[in-house]
Amino acid sequence: MSTNNTSNTHIIHAIPVDPLTGSISVPIYQTATFVQDAPGVNKGYDYGRSGNPTRKALEELVASLEDGTHAYAFATGLAAIDAVVKLLSAGDEIIAVDDIYGGAYRLFTQVYEKFGIKVHYVDTSDLEAIVQHINDKTRFIWLESPTNPTLKVSDIAAIAGLIKDSGIQLVVDNTFATPIAQQPLNLGADIIIHSGTKYLSGHSDLVAGLVVVKEERLAERVKFIQNATGAILGPNDCWLLVRGIETLNLRFRHQSATALQVAKFLETHPEIEEVYYPGLSTHPNHEIAAQQQNGLFGGVLSFTLKNDSVELADKIVCSTRYFKLAESLGGVKSLICSPPQMTHKSIPREKRLQAGVKDSLIRISIGIEEAADLEQAIATGLNTGVLALQEAVAIA
Ligand SMILES: *Cc1c(COP(=O)(O)O)cnc(C)c1O
Repeated sequence: MSTNNTSNTHIIHAIPVDPLTGSISVPIYQTATFVQDAPGVNKGYDYGRSGNPTRKALEELVASLEDGTHAYAFATGLAAIDAVVKLLSAGDEIIAVDDIYGGAYRLFTQVYEKFGIKVHYVDTSDLEAIVQHINDKTRFIWLESPTNPTLKVSDIAAIAGLIKDSGIQLVVDNTFATPIAQQPLNLGADIIIHSGTKYLSGHSDLVAGLVVVKEERLAERVKFIQNATGAILGPNDCWLLVRGIETLNLRFRHQSATALQVAKFLETHPEIEEVYYPGLSTHPNHEIAAQQQNGLFGGVLSFTLKNDSVELADKIVCSTRYFKLAESLGGVKSLICSPPQMTHKSIPREKRLQAGVKDSLIRISIGIEEAADLEQAIATGLNTGVLALQEAVAIA
């Protein structure tokens, strides 16, 4: 459930008017350093890595949307993830959702494994599976909910309850749900991560990341890492992200409504094997999703084909009008992609299949175009793809 602090009214008025000039748009403080009155005496800022007023406006806005006390802005979503992993020490362990974002998997396995951090990949929609992997080295349970690209949903409150008072912290990557649908801190999570690149920006025009917390000591540690390792978001991108967030609620609701309509249409299509969308009553986690996500299921959905071939998926993703073939999601323009060949390429095929990412899986991100136009485009794209594959086979 979301509280009022994600309403359009709250969002718009959580963005401060510049006290110096009255500028209704947050000023872009494009500066590296801040002049001091005397050594150590300043107006709250001393150096651009340590703090910047434009960044502060963004961080306070996102903290309020997530009902947290502090947020920290990073250069990318992965930089935000990296900062959270840096809270750990060699020997510590993470239990992570098994179909985790490909870039997080790559970071964990190819960067942090050699520093002695071990990650167990578990189906976190199954509480018993989590319990089986908890040991005295476990520091984080790491969720994405819904996941990418099979839109699996984990019960955040139940998992938080499971580890209450254990010293294990719950990290939730809230990129796919956004605070409009789900506020993990209010469900018992300790740390929220966002790829601001996606819905928060909403216009596919920047990359950014955020970490949100609600506890003072944890906030101090994240802030320390942000400054000590330096992967901050620059003032221009902070400004652009604030601007994007102004319409987050409008966009996300519209995209969710359209995606539900498209998902229902795909379910009835003869070429489709399975549709993954938590808004469908056939989705295995539909009930918990409906409850946990405020009845909003987001703009991303994926599907597999009866003919489970990469070749057919290729033809379809290249011939669907309006859907641009690109990685990323959550923007105003609809996108289509083939996760096995694009976003999830860094995950070995065997692991991908285990997580339900079949060869023919296609992911779409619904933009703000009209639902009827998108439905029509997908129907035509599927037909064109099937015909193109038949032709290719006939020629061979
Ligand atoms: C895109 C994404 C990330 C990584 O964010 P970047 O901004 O691309 O670094 C992390 N988690 C999820 C769920 C994502 O979709």
